[in-house]
Amino acid sequence: MILAIDQGTTSTRAIAFEVWLEGAFNAAAVSQIELAQHFPHSGWVEHDAAEIWRATLQTCREVVRKAGGVGRFAAIGITNQRETSVIWDAATGEPLHRAIVWQDRRTAEATSKLAAEGHEAKVQAATGLILDPYFSASKYAWLLDAVPGARERAARGEVKLGTIDAWLIWKLTGGRSHVTDATNASRTSLMDLTTRAWRSDLCDLFGVPIEALPEIRDCDALLGQTDPALFGRALPIHGAAGDQQAALVGHGALKPGDAKITYGTGAFLVANVGAAPVTSTSRLLGTLGYAAGGEAAYALEGSIFSAGSAIQWLRDGLKVLSDSRQSEAVAQSLTDNGGVYLVPGFTGLGAPWWEPEARGTIVGLTRDSGPAHMVRAALESLAYQTRDLLDALKKDGAPPLKRLKVDGGVTANAFAMQFVADICEVEVERPAFQEMTAMGAARLAAFGVGLTEALWAAPAEAPAVWRPRMAPAERARLLTGWRAAVRAAVAAARPE
Ligand code: ADP
Repeated sequence: MILAIDQGTTSTRAIAFEVWLEGAFNAAAVSQIELAQHFPHSGWVEHDAAEIWRATLQTCREVVRKAGGVGRFAAIGITNQRETSVIWDAATGEPLHRAIVWQDRRTAEATSKLAAEGHEAKVQAATGLILDPYFSASKYAWLLDAVPGARERAARGEVKLGTIDAWLIWKLTGGRSHVTDATNASRTSLMDLTTRAWRSDLCDLFGVPIEALPEIRDCDALLGQTDPALFGRALPIHGAAGDQQAALVGHGALKPGDAKITYGTGAFLVANVGAAPVTSTSRLLGTLGYAAGGEAAYALEGSIFSAGSAIQWLRDGLKVLSDSRQSEAVAQSLTDNGGVYLVPGFTGLGAPWWEPEARGTIVGLTRDSGPAHMVRAALESLAYQTRDLLDALKKDGAPPLKRLKVDGGVTANAFAMQFVADICEVEVERPAFQEMTAMGAARLAAFGVGLTEALWAAPAEAPAVWRPRMAPAERARLLTGWRAAVRAAVAAARPE
């Protein structure tokens, strides 16, 4: 068995995966604990790293017990919320501040200043990332300034920095390993995407002492041995990847042209572009897909801020649904969208528009429009936004898409999935087992420790597949309507 740790933004989970000879993975036991969210100021989001560690230990111990004891486990794999930044004391192993969560915008001024000084092109060329408070580097610098004496102590190796994977590896190994995996490192703005090593010039630019950073290893490498006192015997930590990258591996999107999109609250597209990084000219992010088995796969990534959250708004805000699941039948009660489009820019528009000031916009209302049109427009918007990302991928010269692998809560909606296939002109494939993030971490660890010979094998249970069947003229008409709606949303965000 493999013990997969899935440390997410809202909860911490441990899953025990049975690994069968033919490469099938079966989730045998699960344990989950919710995580407290702290919002000390507008735009600030924090987690308590000590709470994350306690929940990790508790869920792991519970799953090990449920699965029949530590003797059944070969290795641990970790996947985690990315970019969230932790600072801790090397001597005591205690956090020196609350962790700054990926959503936190407190360093917006610092990254805007770097952009205004003309550093963005250099940072993007080296790391694949635009300058944005999303990534860890500016968060690390903020933490070093906020904790008295931390900068000097960090330069002496007495204070450590890391993303959640590094924090958990430190705690699991009793402070013996200060190690991160290369996908998590690729989200800091400090790692060179090509060499997969820290860049001292970028560390200087952001004001982060390189001595405080973890050592970067491949996703399937030995990342440390757990302290024997924790589970009764030492277990190797033999796999780690950030959540979106782990899902890429979990889906088996291992070849150029393979892509996955996770439709949850927001939606995250990660497309495998092959063995060399691609620099985006359409504001997608260049990132590492994974490094395993001595090979690396690079990726382009685009985020949609509002996906399932648009359905939540229909349910909780407009109150036209009592349950998200109703949205499918309501949308299908109409023969078409009646010319109504919803641009769900509730918290701004992400890639490829990057319009932080945009807000939700509805266009095309007539006296015939009713609640069903809102529901249909919200579900259709998932497909249009996905199409925009796929068009951006194409513009960046990414390899042609073969199939779009999907997971997340919204994929229960067959109307939405068919509409994605129709609008994006691509086959959409939803695996029977949905926990692709934990699955990816488990597959990396199983491969790393030598339980499986390949990083991925097709699951026994057949996926659900949706194929495009919309007439081209119809697709073109709908996309014209959507683009006009996006223009209206962008125009409203920039009043003259
Ligand atoms: P997250 O991991 O971001 O919390 P999930 O993958 O659990 O998200 O998905 C939850 C989202 O899926 C919610 O926003 C919810 O509105 C949406 N959702 C769940 N079921 C359906 C459905 N049948 N049709 C459309 N949206 C759905």
